[in-house]
Amino acid sequence: MAIMTRDFNGVDLSDPKLAAEAVKRKALELGADAVGIGSIDRWSNAPLQMDPKQIMPECKSIIGMVFRVERGSLRGVEEGTYFSNYSAMGYGGITYLYMPMTVINLSKFIEDQGYEAIPMGHQSDWRGIDGEGFAHKNYSRPVAPGKPQPDVMIHLRIAAYLCGLGEIGFSKMFLSPQFGPRCRVGIIMTDVELEPDPIYDGPQLCNRCMACVKNCPGNAFSTEKTVKVNLAGHEVEWSDIDVNACDYHFRGGTHSDKEEKDPYYAEDPKSKPGWWSPFFRKPRNLYNTGQAVCGARGCTRACMISLESRGVLQNTFKEKFRRRPTWTVNWDEEPVYAEGTTFRTEKSGSDAD
Ligand code: SF4
Ligand code: SF4
Repeated sequence: MAIMTRDFNGVDLSDPKLAAEAVKRKALELGADAVGIGSIDRWSNAPLQMDPKQIMPECKSIIGMVFRVERGSLRGVEEGTYFSNYSAMGYGGITYLYMPMTVINLSKFIEDQGYEAIPMGHQSDWRGIDGEGFAHKNYSRPVAPGKPQPDVMIHLRIAAYLCGLGEIGFSKMFLSPQFGPRCRVGIIMTDVELEPDPIYDGPQLCNRCMACVKNCPGNAFSTEKTVKVNLAGHEVEWSDIDVNACDYHFRGGTHSDKEEKDPYYAEDPKSKPGWWSPFFRKPRNLYNTGQAVCGARGCTRACMISLESRGVLQNTFKEKFRRRPTWTVNWDEEPVYAEGTTFRTEKSGSDAD
């Protein structure tokens, strides 16, 4: 029997409308939950370090894909009993496993037809700028005058907006009409010309309810300082988020004026577990990053509850998400363990008898 290969050039992508339909159908088949297309001209005022044309000068289209975080993945954090699932399945697993599979396979489909495609999930660890857009010092240098310093990183939330997939909320979270903030974004840059989708113009998602602000354990959102950007002719505004505050509280820590004997973060002796974390020590990394111990309390859970209560999301559920009062941990009091909790003692050690 002869060897078998993929069907190269089996799908005609020369007509932008038909090509867009074929690519979108394939994206859904491969596991994306929503897919939209933005033409490259929408990135014409992108900063140099975030400009797709710096990566692919002949790029004509960007395909944006939304991947849902299962609502169930947030359940254990909501109940205060099972935190790793959101970090592993809802966050790191999507970022490092599931989304790459989809964007790589869709890129292969496009390259089978003779066009170049760059799959991009959420891997931005090598980027030349920090979370606030400042260049990392002594990290990388341009390979020629006028070029950006590696790595250029496309702003994924803005890309999703420019592909017509939804809004950017006051929290700076991308909000999709299917899942609200409960999603992650992957993209493909390609030199195929694909018919673009309009910028999202559906039911209003972010209504400035400020649930994200009130519920963020890190007080990371400013209500006074905002960031305004023009995206393909649309004014978009979000809170000037304190990314450093988020970074600590997201991982379950909080700053303390007291000197701690057993610091929560080894690198910062003035930090300790926050009210929203039950962990004595910072938990281990899951999938490289993703210690989402706060369970995105403000920017995702509170926002999702707000959007669901307004009935603006398409992915609906039989029961509401919040069913019991929210919990906090009082670190000034001794823990009370449930009856039946057994700790190992010297006697119960494996070689005790
Ligand atoms: S919680 Fe309210 S204000 Fe914040 S992003 Fe969501 S909808 Fe907008
Ligand atoms: S992840 Fe947590 S700390 Fe960070 S912005 Fe969202 S709610 Fe606030």
